[in-house]
Amino acid sequence: MKLNDNFRNIKESYLFAEIAERTAAYSAAHPDKKIIRLGIGDVTLPLVPAVISALHSAVEDMSREETFKGYGPYEGYAFLREGIKKYYAENGVDVGLDEIFVSDGAKSDLGNILDIFSKDNTVLITDPVYPVYVDTNVMAGRKVIFAAANERNGFLPMPDGKVKADIIYICSPNNPTGAAYTKAQLKEWVDYANAMGAVILYDAAYEYFITDDNLARSIFQIEGAETCAIEFCSLSKTAGFTGTRCGYTVIPRKLEAGGLNANRLWLRRQATKFNGVPYIVQKGAAAVFEEECRKQIRGNIDYYRENARMIADCMDELGIWYTGGKNSPYIWLKCPFGMSSWEFFDYLLNGAQVVGTPGAGFGENGEGFFRLTAFGSHAATKEAVSRIKTLLSQK
Ligand code: PLP
Repeated sequence: MKLNDNFRNIKESYLFAEIAERTAAYSAAHPDKKIIRLGIGDVTLPLVPAVISALHSAVEDMSREETFKGYGPYEGYAFLREGIKKYYAENGVDVGLDEIFVSDGAKSDLGNILDIFSKDNTVLITDPVYPVYVDTNVMAGRKVIFAAANERNGFLPMPDGKVKADIIYICSPNNPTGAAYTKAQLKEWVDYANAMGAVILYDAAYEYFITDDNLARSIFQIEGAETCAIEFCSLSKTAGFTGTRCGYTVIPRKLEAGGLNANRLWLRRQATKFNGVPYIVQKGAAAVFEEECRKQIRGNIDYYRENARMIADCMDELGIWYTGGKNSPYIWLKCPFGMSSWEFFDYLLNGAQVVGTPGAGFGENGEGFFRLTAFGSHAATKEAVSRIKTLLSQK
């Protein structure tokens, strides 16, 4: 046998292991100090009551012969896709039921979607980046080029007509930078992709955090996107489904190339390799799109937003440059005093016992930057912010 040689080209990521190691070493040397983690990329609030009740009743369905479910449709139950369709309609987007595919989360679909693209595609990815985009393409042996996100462009790189790309990844609001494209900026990307005959793989995992009207919740709010984009959505951060697992992907019927239709190819791919998301989970997910549940979910999102606001206010007070904080649970800050990402990590850990994520771990352009997240508790965030203020105003 021959194993996939491309795996040799995947960069090892020591980021989270290194964070854990340095934090554990500090903790062992200072057992009396209380460490606050503002690096968490996972939600901490439990599922809302309306979801729990939908899950319970779905479990009951499985106990009775009349309501028991075996294999479901590859693309997801219609009751869930109808809820998703309605949600899109609220944002002014008309999506066909056959354009929606339910998944066990955005990460799987972001990786699996590459099955429908030939190896012979140039991939354009913004840097710094959510590592899944790069690693899945390197595994498949595809050529990856980067668009630099930096302080000058507000971590929102724009298309360069001189650069030729076939598959373009855009994540907005972005992980790790929290930066979000306006509708006008996205229109430029859509025009570029259509002109190139390229596809935009649009990661909307954080769309629920958007509050500003000039930002897009969906790339399909942009004219022309239906011929050049696929959108990946997740209930992970929206509704606390990181452990429950459910997301959805929208592939327009109009997305075609070389006489092949991307929507039909994806259905064929799913029918071949995927037997669907559990009925129980889809019932819980369908509740997310109902009004009562939406109110409860908004409460959780507001809770995280309040944390983000506390951190952003602290940066404003200290005069530190950052992106995110608004329309995003991430605050991406420029390390003060010219420190590198890891220097600042150590400085914050030693001086304030606060743990964040060094930006250098997300790509070349992340060096000198640092990510804080809003997924902690109010009390911990408040305490962390107060310690950061004390530490940084001393220097
Ligand atoms: N996309 C981005 C940008 C993310 O940050 C994450 C999770 O952190 C995902 C996708 C994965 O989402 P899911 O839990 O639906 O797989």
